[in-house]
Amino acid sequence: MSFKQVLSQPHAVSHFQSVLARGRLAHAYVFCGPDGVGKALFARELVKTLLCSGRSDKETSPDACDQCESCKAVDSGDNPDLFWITLDYKVIKIEAIRELERLAVLKPHGARRRVFVIEDAERMNAEAANCLLKTLEEPPRGVVILLTATSLARLPRTIVSRCQVVRFQPIEPATLKKLIKKNLDVFKEGDSDGDSYKEALEWLAGASCGSMGWAARLVKEEAVTRRKKLFDRLSSLHMDDNFLVSQEVLDWCPYNKDEGLEGRRARLRIWMCLMLEFYRDVLLCKVGADELGLFNMDYRDKIAAKARQLSERTVEEIMGEINSSLDGLRRNANINLLVENMFTRIARLEANTYGAS
Ligand SMILES: [Zn+2]
Repeated sequence: MSFKQVLSQPHAVSHFQSVLARGRLAHAYVFCGPDGVGKALFARELVKTLLCSGRSDKETSPDACDQCESCKAVDSGDNPDLFWITLDYKVIKIEAIRELERLAVLKPHGARRRVFVIEDAERMNAEAANCLLKTLEEPPRGVVILLTATSLARLPRTIVSRCQVVRFQPIEPATLKKLIKKNLDVFKEGDSDGDSYKEALEWLAGASCGSMGWAARLVKEEAVTRRKKLFDRLSSLHMDDNFLVSQEVLDWCPYNKDEGLEGRRARLRIWMCLMLEFYRDVLLCKVGADELGLFNMDYRDKIAAKARQLSERTVEEIMGEINSSLDGLRRNANINLLVENMFTRIARLEANTYGAS
């Protein structure tokens, strides 16, 4: 892959095409935008361009050759002129930035530059940020520093003011669909003419809110099939099977040693947000505003049936229940109890208003 093949961020691509063509590269940039929209991917392609030794027109061409030793070494992660700080732990500590400082004053190995990338720069602790500031104030010649962040507000202003900011936008739905088809195995192998394939793609592109990272996460969690199971359960929820539903949802949130409890909570949050969307659709149907667009068009019939069963107030109470369970999740409540209680209360609310309108 090379720079010109970055589909997701045409604005950033044209910005750097113009910067490189005019020879106006700054020494530091912040790539700012939501998670999963391609900031790190873009940074990697830009690094390739900056370090490439095989470009035909070295200073003005925006594209790396993708063939030379330098380009290959960027892809494999061992280009000596690239130092990439990722988030191995929850905080980026001063040791990482001191290493950056030490390397920044050395001469480049092969290329004319040394490039430093700090992913999730908002995770720098204050000490690390102060240390970086020193390098940003007096950048050694030939050094380029790229930071990625989800929000400028989370970075010290002193750092932002010394960088050029490039905004990354949520990916356009049509582009996102292309990327999903190209990159996610289930979709690469699926029958792209089939109705269920189109339905799944449509739903995934919408549910991912312009984030390829989020699309990949949803696929990894088998959200395409589990969503259907969950919605089938919700469509016919009864007092006597709510325990089964909660066990099923808990099975989808296994404990994983590497991710810890936070990983479990993150998984559960996915299913709870899907439930919120389901009942939000029911509410839209209830108030006759479904033509505004349901999140789950493929469930329109079941959602409409649910809307006939439940009163508007009940649907609002159920949504309130899910929201307060999400709050409980943030406050680290016991996960099993939280899920069981949530389904019990939802089933009870529904049972109490059957037949109401
Ligand atoms: Zn190259």
